[in-house]
Amino acid sequence: MANEKVNRPVNVRRPEVMEQVAKDLARFHSPLVDCIREQGNELELPGMRLFLADSFGFCDGVKRAIEIAYAACRLFKDRRIWLIGEIIHNPEVNAQLDAFGLLHLPWKMDDPAYDELTPEDVVIMPAFGVSVEMRRLLDSKGVTLVDSTCGNVIKVWQRVRAYAAAGVTSIIHGKARHEESMATASQSQGTDGKGIFLVVFDADDARLVAEYINGRGDRESFLQHFKGSYSCGFDPDAHLAEIGLANQTTMLKSETAEIQDMLRAAVVERDGSDARFHMFDTICGATQDRQNALFSLLEKPLDAMFIIGGYNSSNTTHLAHIAATKVPTFFVSAADCLLSRESIRCFDLALKKEVERPLPASLSHPERELQVGVTAGASCPANVIEDVICRIAELCGCSEI
Ligand code: SF4
Repeated sequence: MANEKVNRPVNVRRPEVMEQVAKDLARFHSPLVDCIREQGNELELPGMRLFLADSFGFCDGVKRAIEIAYAACRLFKDRRIWLIGEIIHNPEVNAQLDAFGLLHLPWKMDDPAYDELTPEDVVIMPAFGVSVEMRRLLDSKGVTLVDSTCGNVIKVWQRVRAYAAAGVTSIIHGKARHEESMATASQSQGTDGKGIFLVVFDADDARLVAEYINGRGDRESFLQHFKGSYSCGFDPDAHLAEIGLANQTTMLKSETAEIQDMLRAAVVERDGSDARFHMFDTICGATQDRQNALFSLLEKPLDAMFIIGGYNSSNTTHLAHIAATKVPTFFVSAADCLLSRESIRCFDLALKKEVERPLPASLSHPERELQVGVTAGASCPANVIEDVICRIAELCGCSEI
């Protein structure tokens, strides 16, 4: 009983620290970005018109998680504070938090760092949430828990737990190794741990599942393909009988819709009805808004698009994928990626690594005014967006905006 009390997450957003926290968070604001927003999301530069998307940057879930992390640092300044993985996927935010002396716990629960935990320690759970097993481990250590899990992630958990309770297999559209999907997968095993899940990454994965449902798959190659993406005991012959879809909150909306259609059609083809197909769209509103705003922005005749954010940020990566289908796209994490007018360091979506890329002459030495779009993922602070805009302006020969 005593342990239960200690391990209930504590509220750290208390009046005595929030004034200081508000000052801490001011570093992530940008008067310039606010000003561009007020002026209709357009900025005139020498030889360039820059357009910001209507919706970009920090979402409410990220703002809340960062606020909670800073509040924990202020409230427990005399105690060791650990963070599991990263609070969000943005290098600037994480570096700023590290400056407070935060210690890091890896996602691997057998890491020796967990042996060091004592009831005097504080542990922050990130915005993506943690797995059921991780939560149990933390409870067993008696640490003070600070929970920054986003409410939208918790909604997904409620859904997959309901599937588990009803004996329905959760099909999770997400990245099997992403923190959020791992946490959701563990929740889909339900209170007794017997629930079944399968994570599908994309439409190609979903197609294999649809074919299997319709009796056109090979069991061994199916299990080999999805190795590491399903729960212990998953049997495709038994566990695809009744399926329920959910998704990582930051996936590509259009792909989720395609996957829903494909799997529903497969169940209907097999059963003659969709009674044993369930779905619940769990892409969060913030992800959706940023994707929609980008689609609108891409209707303009843009010469190039800058996507700003952490390279391991799922929602930002999807923005980059969307933009890259329409226009030369540069996925950058910070202003110093813009090396010169001729060269840029950016994340290559195919190679999955940062590369240095020469700019084509049409962009580096244009013969007409360029039209350039800018947006940023839900974990990207406005000050980083401002830095990138200022660097673009500097390369256009404009020293002050
Ligand atoms: S992107 Fe969505 S799910 Fe993720 S933290 Fe923001 S609001 Fe929450």
